[in-house]
Amino acid sequence: MQKAPCDGMSVKSVPPAEGRVWGDEDEVVSVAVQYAWQRLRQDPDPVAGARPAADLAEAAGSTVTAPGIGAAAALGLFDRVLAPATRAQNGPTNLAYIPAAPTRAALAFEAVTGAANIFAGTWEAGAGAIHAENEALAWLTRLLGWPATAAGCFVSGGTMGNLSALVAARAAAAERPRPAGGWKIVCADSAHSSIRSAARAMDVEVVTAPVDRHGHLTGAAVNAVLDATDGVFAVAATAGTTNAGLVDELDTIADACERHGVWLHVDGAYGGAGLAAASVRHRYTGIERADSFIVDPHKWLFAPYDCCALLYRDPAPARAAHSQSAHYLDAIDRDAHNPSDLALHLSRRARGLPFWFSLAVHGTDRYATAVERTLTTSRQVADAVRASDHLRLVAEPELSVVLFERPGWSAQDYAAWSARAARTGATLCVPTRWNGRTVLRMAFVNPDTRADEVIEVLHTLGGLVRPGPPPAADAR
Ligand SMILES: *Cc1c(COP(=O)(O)O)cnc(C)c1O
Repeated sequence: MQKAPCDGMSVKSVPPAEGRVWGDEDEVVSVAVQYAWQRLRQDPDPVAGARPAADLAEAAGSTVTAPGIGAAAALGLFDRVLAPATRAQNGPTNLAYIPAAPTRAALAFEAVTGAANIFAGTWEAGAGAIHAENEALAWLTRLLGWPATAAGCFVSGGTMGNLSALVAARAAAAERPRPAGGWKIVCADSAHSSIRSAARAMDVEVVTAPVDRHGHLTGAAVNAVLDATDGVFAVAATAGTTNAGLVDELDTIADACERHGVWLHVDGAYGGAGLAAASVRHRYTGIERADSFIVDPHKWLFAPYDCCALLYRDPAPARAAHSQSAHYLDAIDRDAHNPSDLALHLSRRARGLPFWFSLAVHGTDRYATAVERTLTTSRQVADAVRASDHLRLVAEPELSVVLFERPGWSAQDYAAWSARAARTGATLCVPTRWNGRTVLRMAFVNPDTRADEVIEVLHTLGGLVRPGPPPAADAR
């Protein structure tokens, strides 16, 4: 077991110095910072996972007490009990859901950002940090092919980004009279669950447009729905569906939105990172005409949690929708770039800074290389599946998600294999559903994932067919 950096250190509970409630916190600071330093240098990340709540409560004991337990006990507890009950998302063989692969530079700067305690809601309070965040956003703006007048901010995640963008879209539409049947959003069934969640929060209806046979939302489908439906204020297209990594047909969808004067929001929470990769950039054609866009740098852009970049091609409607007013806020300079004015939030930390720092340190070329490398890895794995005689690719991968099946396997077979692979530490790879069938899904976001290691794991999918009931005599 790793030695806690506070082991052997006596951290006295300091009686409050005269007039100071917290006493002298120097020692606490040094213990916590040393711990962070050690953790940042731990590579690979420790393999760990959740424990049942009751089990964990017993192991942790009572932690929030009237006299306080002190730094040594609190940090020791984190090191020995709490942290081992959290899964580090960064392992190169973690291919489940959307894993994470932050650069060490970004992780280290997360600690720096925390230390600086910046209020990054308003320019007045957070100008320096906001300038840097805007530099990172400007890189994304260039990748989108948007004008330099585009603007945005960082929010917690794709869910909040989608909600904020759709609220801005509705506010822009609300210059027209409210339609008799209420406001509506058009998206495909493959859109992320957060689009429906935003619609519920906004009390608007979701109208589903069908996808083509490959799974893309197309302009033709959107156009047909827009022709037949009143009150649509936004179309939400996806650039990289979470389940299959498919990019909707953005160019023709943009045509349909333009024709009907409807806001186009592109959800690139996972797949937006592909804009940086020359080999797939053509799939995003049309995105330059979107009105709003999100990407989660904590997914495929090597930033730590939690970080979503939200961008508006024209930020004016977003400002009109999101600026909060209150007497105590009257002094805020509304002509300045205030991130608070662009999303559903007011207080915010400068959560874009770790992303900015890593981009500044490594350069955008290295980012393009890193995204390309994960694409190459997923293509190599897809090729191995294609070449295998016991596996079948169920969809042609467009980005870095690979869906495949083991013909003849049931949902239980997949679950048993997945649980065993997780237990042995071979890989974290969980089943999903595709066209009504249970299949396996691998999502690649880590440039250090090695295709040969993953392909090795694929071999273990060979011999696990459970013995079925013996064939009936007359069937022989
Ligand atoms: C992950 C994801 C979201 C939600 O993002 P969070 O950061 O988890 O809130 C939204 N849309 C897509 C396409 C996603 O992949």
